[in-house]
Amino acid sequence: MMEALTETYGNPSGAHRLAREANRRVDAARASLAESFGITPGNIVFTSGGTEADSMAIHGSLRRLADRGTPGVAVCSAVEHHAVLEPVEFTGGRVVAVDANGVLDLDHLGVVLAELNEKQVPVAVVSIMAANNETGVIQPVIEASRIVRELAPDALIHSDAVQFSAWRDTSDIAAAVDLMSVSAHKIGGPKGIGFLAVGTGVTLPAIQMGGGQERGRRGGTHNVPGIVAMAAAAQVMVAERSETVERVENLRDRLINDVLAGAAGAFVTGAGADRLPNIAHFCLPGIESEPLLFMLEKNDVMASAASSCSSGAQQVSHVLAAMGITGSDAPGALRLSLGRDSTKDDVDAAARSVVEVVDRIRSRG
Ligand code: PLP
Repeated sequence: MMEALTETYGNPSGAHRLAREANRRVDAARASLAESFGITPGNIVFTSGGTEADSMAIHGSLRRLADRGTPGVAVCSAVEHHAVLEPVEFTGGRVVAVDANGVLDLDHLGVVLAELNEKQVPVAVVSIMAANNETGVIQPVIEASRIVRELAPDALIHSDAVQFSAWRDTSDIAAAVDLMSVSAHKIGGPKGIGFLAVGTGVTLPAIQMGGGQERGRRGGTHNVPGIVAMAAAAQVMVAERSETVERVENLRDRLINDVLAGAAGAFVTGAGADRLPNIAHFCLPGIESEPLLFMLEKNDVMASAASSCSSGAQQVSHVLAAMGITGSDAPGALRLSLGRDSTKDDVDAAARSVVEVVDRIRSRG
């Protein structure tokens, strides 16, 4: 990344030597990323991150049908990241339910697609995330894609693999869907860079136009330092993945056990589902997330709620609401995420801190 910032700083769209050198770096990064994610280099469309990739997938798919004179709707799961959910809802799309573990309800997906079929409403895109960012719950993307291919064969299938891609191989998902979003800062790379993988033969109209970069699929000067850094981060991630996953999962389980043992009434959200190894998401009945997070931060524990908070001071999480964790019983939500550098001391300190803060809040009544 430093080399791209200081030496190969040409604009890869230009014609002179510095530009050509920058272009070579982008091409090499594209090839390396394709290998890391089990896709084809030409399928990668670089974006400013996961949000833009998601937006491009939803709006681009809608434009694709509108351009053919048969406008359609977008469909997504109720637990998508806002980067998917908001464009789907904004454009009048349909949302598919999840069960109490936060796993996509495949029967409901079938019902929604059948209803749209009956009303002769074309489906532009169905978007099912690979893993949820609040709970870590993994979604049945491949099973969902079979249902979509059967009931809405003209629809594109998109999967937001922003969280999933750091921890599990994306090849099978990439092969099953038409569009897949990835963001560098979830795999150890810098913020502000990502890509949308657009399947071979899939034509997705550009949303960001001008410049003609990325074969006309996304205009704008390439973020060369970000692109090369994302490729380097992905190489490290893939090389170390199996060791990292095992180590982080053990630490995550240790953290969960200690919190459950020390904080009465606490439960793990989505505990019955297959989950990513790095997220420990708890609900803590009777505890409001805001003071909890504030007091944890004083102990140097940087957590998030993502957030089902009965005080109303924080927005209620649409993910927890979709799982049926709502209403006056809404417990405090706490998401503790681990990274590849997390240690046993980190998780022990975090667990001690959570238990101590919960005790303190409860004793204040
Ligand atoms: N999708 C998911 C599942 C995410 O977790 C995030 C970020 O946290 C995004 C999309 C947005 O990605 P970015 O921050 O690169 O815009």
